[in-house]
Amino acid sequence: MYDPLISAGPGNGEPHTTSYWAASAGPEPQDDGPINSDRTVEVAIIGAGYTGLAAGLYLAREHGIEACVLEANRTGWGCSGRNGGFALKAGGRLSYQKMIKRWGEPMARRVFDEIVEGLDRVRDLIRTENIDCDAQPEGHLWVAHRPEMMQQIESEARFLRDHFGYQADVLSASDLVSNHFSGDEAYGALRFQDGFGVHPLKLAYGYQRLARAAGCKVHGSSPVIDWQQDGEYQVLVTPGGRVRAKKVICATNGYTPPSLHPKLKNRTFPVLSNVIVTRPLTEQELSDSRFQSSDVITDTRTLRFYYRKLPDNRLLIGGRSAITGQDADNPRHNQTLIEALQRKFPALDQISYDYNWGGWVCISYDDIPHVFQTDPSGKVLYAMGYGGSGVSFSVQAGKRLAEKVVGITDGHDLPILNSPLPKFPFAPFRRLGQRALYHYYYHRDEHGRRQLVTPSQHPKRA
Ligand SMILES: Cc1cc2nc3c(=O)[nH]c(=O)nc-3n(C[C@H](O)[C@H](O)[C@H](O)COP(=O)(O)OP(=O)(O)OC[C@H]3O[C@@H](n4cnc5c(N)ncnc54)[C@H](O)[C@@H]3O)c2cc1C
Repeated sequence: MYDPLISAGPGNGEPHTTSYWAASAGPEPQDDGPINSDRTVEVAIIGAGYTGLAAGLYLAREHGIEACVLEANRTGWGCSGRNGGFALKAGGRLSYQKMIKRWGEPMARRVFDEIVEGLDRVRDLIRTENIDCDAQPEGHLWVAHRPEMMQQIESEARFLRDHFGYQADVLSASDLVSNHFSGDEAYGALRFQDGFGVHPLKLAYGYQRLARAAGCKVHGSSPVIDWQQDGEYQVLVTPGGRVRAKKVICATNGYTPPSLHPKLKNRTFPVLSNVIVTRPLTEQELSDSRFQSSDVITDTRTLRFYYRKLPDNRLLIGGRSAITGQDADNPRHNQTLIEALQRKFPALDQISYDYNWGGWVCISYDDIPHVFQTDPSGKVLYAMGYGGSGVSFSVQAGKRLAEKVVGITDGHDLPILNSPLPKFPFAPFRRLGQRALYHYYYHRDEHGRRQLVTPSQHPKRA
């Protein structure tokens, strides 16, 4: 597997990973073909995931700039076609409580509003543009995986109500059985009324169609293999031709090659997450597990499992995986997921999986995404670092990137919109630290005591 800390680049025209999403998305929408000659454009965007496509869409639609997206492989080849499809009110990994500690309540509230706008934006695009992406009804369950985690669920509910007037429902174990599912490791839950499941690759295809219809060009099989300067122009070298651009947006997130641009070096940490999808549950299994809910579900572990029932009654579950790309295909990572599913749903102890795949989540050192213009004239911009929560915020980031390109700065005085990705200290040792943390979190999740944490979804301010 491509390893962004080691490999030179993500390839050229590679097929999608063998995911359930790729198998069920239908035909790929037409793109503008690989770059096959030299050209000059106003804005080039590297990466055709949600961020790059949204930036292209908003540049064309709202600012009349027909940008050119350069994608190494194909639309949605990176995280955007591989994720769990949880559209949550989230951006990055920082809890709302920690945001308050870091920036004070007024700024934390403004950041939160920006995050809320991200989820609203995705929902509106899906509805108003009729994006066919199997969007499921809203609801996010944060499930207590051990009895003592109910204290955290209850205290989180109080925190949200008292500080933000946000009403999230505390469900008991029997509420879960009556309305959602029956299983182990489910001692109750906090239910948020917003957040929903989507088919992530269909969503990426939908964005590509919108971006192209607005005038943006999307070139698959066009990896940027070198980046040069020519006067006021940035020159992006692809195998089929050079693209000269006044401004360049890097939308490469967890797939950013190590030498793409000096301003990105050692500022992201790609971390693998694996997903499996079972065969469709039989009527008997559905009834035995009482699985009625289409809510997206996360548990209270720090190394959390995320799971959901798909529209065709398959179950999807994802969680942490290998440390290195070299170990990514080791079957034990899928085994961990199927065992977790069987533990959670003893009625499904015979369940097998039909699909498995993995992808690189992009972690930033300060746990928040950064949408940033690296120089005063805005020659190079980027947005990345969403953690496992980029389905909604990446689209908001694309909109903000487009504004930065045309010099709009109103509302950009937020830490996620005006500060660079911090460098990782001791960057060569990131994976050693990750290994140690995985051990520590695993033991704390399964056996130890925990401090209060919030789910990746944040409250909506009343
Ligand atoms: C397994 C997994 C599960 C996840 N689940 C969820 C979830 O349920 N909910 C959620 O909110 N988030 C989830 N995420 C995170 C979410 O998918 C991402 O935050 C989001 O898709 C980022 O989109 P993006 O457009 O920024 O990057 P990507 O979609 O990763 O796109 C980057 C693109 O850049 C291209 N590229 C890289 N280098 C070059 C180059 N040199 N030249 C040209 N192109 C290049 C790559 O080929 C790639 O297609 C998950 C991630 C993974 C891996």
